[in-house]
Amino acid sequence: MDKAKKKTVREELLCSVLCSEFGACPFSFSDKSEQIQNYGCLPTPMDIVKMRVEHGKTWACHENPEKPCLGALKYLRKNGHPFKVIDKELVTEESNWGLYTN
Ligand SMILES: [Zn+2]
Repeated sequence: MDKAKKKTVREELLCSVLCSEFGACPFSFSDKSEQIQNYGCLPTPMDIVKMRVEHGKTWACHENPEKPCLGALKYLRKNGHPFKVIDKELVTEESNWGLYTN
């Protein structure tokens, strides 16, 4: 058992409270979004790049999981990565996104 990887109750609570707040998009690069990434609630921009570049998966919008995250698409394009959505099954906050960040 890896105890360090297990979230504490306090962290779980912060996840459910903070992650549902506006502006939590990993690409808002705000204090809040960074705080949320630190708690492991949401992937970091680097995780999201990896998702697309190595796994062909696109991160969904925080506000509307039916749509790709515009922040992610812009960031990928800006950094010269492939950004077009090739897999319509988007990766959401609720999905097991940890699978695509390694
Ligand atoms: Zn977003």
